[in-house]
Amino acid sequence: MADNVNALPFFYGNITREEAEDYLQQAGMNSGLYLLRQSRNYLGGFALSVSHSGRCYHYTIERQHNETYAIAGGKSHRAPTDVIDYHSQEMDGLICLLKKPCNRPKNMQPKVGPFEDLKEKLIREYVKQTWKLQGPALEQAIISQRPQLEKLIATTAHERMPWFHGSITREDSEPRLQNSPRTNGKFLIRQRDQNGSYALCLLHEGQVMHYRIDRDRTGKLSIPDGKKFDTLWQLVEHYSYKPDGLLRVLTEPCPRPDGEQFVGRPLPPLDHPGLVSAIQTAADGLLSMFRAGSTSSKNRRNPSKANQNPYGPVMANQPSNKAEAMPMDTGVYESPYADPDELRSSTVDRSQLILEDGELGSGNFGTVMKGIYKMRKTEKPVAVKILKNDDNNPSVCEEMLREANVMQQLDNPYIVRMIGICEAENLMLVMELAELGPLNKFLQKNKQTSLKNITELVHQVSMGMKYLEEHNFVHRDLAARNVLLVTQHYAKISDFGLSKAVAEEQNYYKAKGHGKWPVKWYAPECMNYFKFSCKSDVWSFGVLMWEAFSYGHKPYKGMKGNDVMQMIESGQRMDPPPNCPPEIYDLMRACWTYKVDERPGFSVVEPRLRDYYYDIAQ
Ligand code: ATP
Repeated sequence: MADNVNALPFFYGNITREEAEDYLQQAGMNSGLYLLRQSRNYLGGFALSVSHSGRCYHYTIERQHNETYAIAGGKSHRAPTDVIDYHSQEMDGLICLLKKPCNRPKNMQPKVGPFEDLKEKLIREYVKQTWKLQGPALEQAIISQRPQLEKLIATTAHERMPWFHGSITREDSEPRLQNSPRTNGKFLIRQRDQNGSYALCLLHEGQVMHYRIDRDRTGKLSIPDGKKFDTLWQLVEHYSYKPDGLLRVLTEPCPRPDGEQFVGRPLPPLDHPGLVSAIQTAADGLLSMFRAGSTSSKNRRNPSKANQNPYGPVMANQPSNKAEAMPMDTGVYESPYADPDELRSSTVDRSQLILEDGELGSGNFGTVMKGIYKMRKTEKPVAVKILKNDDNNPSVCEEMLREANVMQQLDNPYIVRMIGICEAENLMLVMELAELGPLNKFLQKNKQTSLKNITELVHQVSMGMKYLEEHNFVHRDLAARNVLLVTQHYAKISDFGLSKAVAEEQNYYKAKGHGKWPVKWYAPECMNYFKFSCKSDVWSFGVLMWEAFSYGHKPYKGMKGNDVMQMIESGQRMDPPPNCPPEIYDLMRACWTYKVDERPGFSVVEPRLRDYYYDIAQ
């Protein structure tokens, strides 16, 4: 997959077309000699350079919306390496067959682009600033949303670059460029309209040239008849290195007049010293490498947490790309008690709780209703599990209190948090609301959900489970029905009714006897020895993955518990769901490793899923 290209000996990273030609020449320019490099104009794309009859040919391998790769107009493939394999067999429009890879010189690593170096810092500062997160919440946000954040940073960072002057007029731009020093190639970019078109203003022999930068229907930016780019900083980078139709290359960015803000664009405030220095570093890095700063477009998020809508994305005027809400945009990413002004208490005062009409769901214990919990500073939409006390059964009460006790000890963005217990007309468990309900039902109803989206959600579940594993809790009822969705891109693990804290040394829980168990989700050691550990949760997680990738189908359909046990004991496992990516099925099979000691823990499963997710989501 795309991420693994770094390991390919013929992948050179972010080198220019001319550098690629030099390498091919040094290697002899035989017909069909090829190398792969990173695209310098398309995010996540590649370029293939091939020699034939003493000349070099360059093909862009674009990353398409459906997560496949293709040379423009050509066949789609799952990975850039598949494009190469295909063209080793079929010319299909190429100048010749790909015959021999031109490997990197010894000890040379793929070249890292300037943005790669800076983005880590920019992402961290952006998340800190926009969502006011720190510590584990910050780390978890970056892990679970890295592909989205990378894209966001790539497409918005130009707003903080010295050469980006916002929406000023042509007339305003000219004196700025003509101020001394009047260096040839001095430039700035201004915004022409709200539809994402810009102008590049360039000083040439004392005169200012204005080049239009248009955005096409697919969102790509270009000077008329010029090369297309995903971001403004890539465009600046390109024209800083060669004129390619302009009167000259870009040399010196024209700085904005001091303290100027862009009109009508609520940018994240720049008063945070960390952010200012990260941006400064970013600008400096790019300046020194290309004599011009860089980065690009669309303004997305309102950074203020105070006016956050609890469940909606917090987005500012967004011209083209429809932005999806990230988990951090919702009101349930952090605990309500993360705010020091809210008193942490395990009890909820009935007078502060308003129950609304309409059931969210029901179970053996009673019903789950939607409600509003009035906290000191905010009103929080909540889910309230209400115990029916018709039969006055104390053991059901105890069960609910045990569940509350477990939940109270957990605090993770990918786990439904308990807000408190309310003892009133009924015993009530007040929890964070995950309004879109159980994952299996959601997927049954939303068959168009992409594999990327499903991977994102199950990866979040694995993050929540890794947290449980690290804190020595076993869930014991992990299944798609017990994963609740806050949004289509945000999953939380729920239902801790069977969960147990386990001792660190012993690390498993031994049940006294067989109960009403979800047998199809249980590992062999649970059934045979009543032993439950984080590793048996891993087994259940494999079944949960199967459910998710089969769009909410029932596992082992039509089979009885005993038949399932026999099937597992005989070494058989469920087949992959239709269209299930092989990487995902391999991971399911690893989760269904018979021997506990050989089965991976969540500390292994989560990074494996993470790698796969980053690969397909970049
Ligand atoms: P199980 O049969 O899996 O043990 P249960 O009887 O313990 O389930 P829950 O799974 O806790 O009941 O809740 C029943 C239903 O209520 C869920 O399937 C879901 O639709 C709804 N529900 C529960 N908790 C929440 C929540 N926090 N936010 C939104 N809906 C919820």
